[in-house]
Amino acid sequence: MSADNKTKVVADDMVISLDYTLSVDGEVLDSSEDEGPIVFLQGHGNIIPGLEKELVGLAVGENKEVTVTPKDGYGEQDSEEIKDIPLSEFPEEIPLKDGIELKVKDDEGVEMYGKIVSVGEETVEMDFNHPLAGKTLQFSVKLIELRDATQEELAHGHVHSPGHAH
Ligand code: ZN
Repeated sequence: MSADNKTKVVADDMVISLDYTLSVDGEVLDSSEDEGPIVFLQGHGNIIPGLEKELVGLAVGENKEVTVTPKDGYGEQDSEEIKDIPLSEFPEEIPLKDGIELKVKDDEGVEMYGKIVSVGEETVEMDFNHPLAGKTLQFSVKLIELRDATQEELAHGHVHSPGHAH
């Protein structure tokens, strides 16, 4: 680490390595403990907006508690995202049970994930809201590393890991 690193703080167009713990309603849902810090390009919408904007000004080694409302997180629950789909559209080999998550294609062939709410006589009710829609997210973060992005990363809008440009 150079002395210069000590004074650097998070700003747009920097590559951030961040340890995090995500809790919802006091329950830990996800953390970087197992897979290591997340690495992303700040200011390019690569993480949810409510967390990204709170990281600005953070220095390496600093911790922060961030509360993200649904509006700045995964959005509110949308009743239009709960849909009845004809049973005939599901391949027979798929077991249809409440709570199962499935990938389905919409009319334009776009794949989307949904969760089965209930299975009826002729239709299956599915919820296509993000599982964290409507939830207030509590992040506990620690800034691990900070560097300037390369020109190529800026052009692509995402981080390149060493030896793996795409
Ligand atoms: Zn790329």
